[in-house]
Amino acid sequence: MKVSKRAQAVPASATMAVTSRAKQLKAEGVDVVSFGAGEPDFDTPQYIKDSAIKAIGAGETKYTATVGIIELRIAISEKFEKENGLNYSPEQIILNIGAKHSVYETAQAVLDEGDEVILPTPYWVTYPEAIKLAGATPKIVQTDKANSYKITPELLKSAITDKTAMLLLNSPNNPGGFTYTPEELAAIAKVLEGTDIMVLSDEIYEKLIYGQTKFVSFASLTPDAYNRALTINGFSKAFSMTGWRLGYTAGPLEVIKAMARLQSHMTQNPVSFVQKAGVTALGDDGGAVENMRVEFEKRGNYMAQRLNSIEGIACAEPTGAFYCFPDVSAHYGKTIGGVEINGSMDFAKTLLEQANVALVPGLPFGCDDNVRLSFACSLEQITKGLDRIEKWLKT
Ligand code: PMP
Repeated sequence: MKVSKRAQAVPASATMAVTSRAKQLKAEGVDVVSFGAGEPDFDTPQYIKDSAIKAIGAGETKYTATVGIIELRIAISEKFEKENGLNYSPEQIILNIGAKHSVYETAQAVLDEGDEVILPTPYWVTYPEAIKLAGATPKIVQTDKANSYKITPELLKSAITDKTAMLLLNSPNNPGGFTYTPEELAAIAKVLEGTDIMVLSDEIYEKLIYGQTKFVSFASLTPDAYNRALTINGFSKAFSMTGWRLGYTAGPLEVIKAMARLQSHMTQNPVSFVQKAGVTALGDDGGAVENMRVEFEKRGNYMAQRLNSIEGIACAEPTGAFYCFPDVSAHYGKTIGGVEINGSMDFAKTLLEQANVALVPGLPFGCDDNVRLSFACSLEQITKGLDRIEKWLKT
């Protein structure tokens, strides 16, 4: 049967090769340490589960409004005001089926053929595909390790053309594990003043920040930033709800209305009782989110410190999300266990085969010098995996 040109143009995930090989090895009984996870290893907090069960019992099992139940949109509007100093009315908020859906639908709603979207490296692998599926072109901007892989006002200025429609920002960052400071974001916002460039700000890792890091929502910087921002967030990472599929987008009313029209024909609403659980999640969490954050912080600090103690590996301490993204390129060109390592794909593949540690190569994120290690796993696993990496690099 025919497969559309559109679907043919979407590549299979370049990270999948390592992930599926890791699964295969595990199934064969090999003790694989996996740093591949893109989701928290904690269970969803009980108070959220209870709420969903109660909602099912109460018959919350039917279609809801396309944009989501008003109760949840009010709760999100209040969250924006209280936590981000942002004034988004419930009408300016649409619930989506995970933040991945938010990214896709936003791109569909605002981008046209010929538009360029500035995408700084490292970028989450879904962004370029969502941009291309909307007919637009990702304009990849190579960032500098010396500036912690963040786009600078200078880099941004030089990437802007008369076709630039959007800048994509993701802070805290997957896979980089870094967070833009309020000053850095303000400098970026300043460059955009006087242009009609939109900003898609993916803030899904907002709650997972470490040390002295401060989270600032791009839209809260200035009235100008607010008017050009599409703010995306969700429940997956903060509340450990990846399987529940609940995300949201806030922005100018005309864009949210356009997204609602698309959504009404594509997916309709996110799951009815999951939306009810979302309202509960945003209420009093009894410290559940903070407990997870504290645990992630401990693991991230330990992982970065261990990585830095290994010769030829340089890793910044993560300030957000749950990833370390070390530069391992000092090992490229070497032969380890009889295999020549010529980039992050070789590094990841060979490490998995020879030392049974799974991590994600940086190449699909636009940074071949790096690899991504998730610390959404126990300290015990982190210690075991890093012991193996250290030993492997000495072979
Ligand atoms: N944005 C980023 C940067 C992510 O890493 C992810 C999850 N990997 C998402 C969005 C999507 O999250 P979800 O669809 O589970 O809400």
